[in-house]
Amino acid sequence: MSDEKSMKKKKAVKETAEKNNQKTSSDKIQYTPSEKKADLSKIETRGIGITGVNPPETKCDDKNCPFHGGLKVRGRTFVGIVKSAKAKKTSTVEWTRWKIIKKYERYEKRKTKICVHNPPCINAAEGDEVMIAECRPLSKTKNFVVVSITRKKA
Ligand SMILES: [Zn+2]
Repeated sequence: MSDEKSMKKKKAVKETAEKNNQKTSSDKIQYTPSEKKADLSKIETRGIGITGVNPPETKCDDKNCPFHGGLKVRGRTFVGIVKSAKAKKTSTVEWTRWKIIKKYERYEKRKTKICVHNPPCINAAEGDEVMIAECRPLSKTKNFVVVSITRKKA
């Protein structure tokens, strides 16, 4: 008697589990695009604590975005020109600096070129002048993120 009961119970559990599985899988396939859109509208824009930097008008669902994701910025900021924006969510930024040559009492021009994270809501293009801020290491070569476009390419 007890065996039969347990068997019945097991069967019922199995059936419900199957039903649930079917339901969830079909739901996922049907509602994925609309869910994504709804999420974008729910995302809140936050300030990053750098004076003069305003959040972008568009939103994104990038988890490594300083405005819409969880990425914190701290440390140094620079302004440079985007040299390449071909890689996905990554671009290279370059700027010049002056180094003193003591022996000749003159300066020489030097360049700094680094990889930076380019979030989809900012989407800086090649030739733009951008402000970048230091953040935690995002990959082997990326420690900076684009926070604003200071001047669009003419
Ligand atoms: Zn964003």
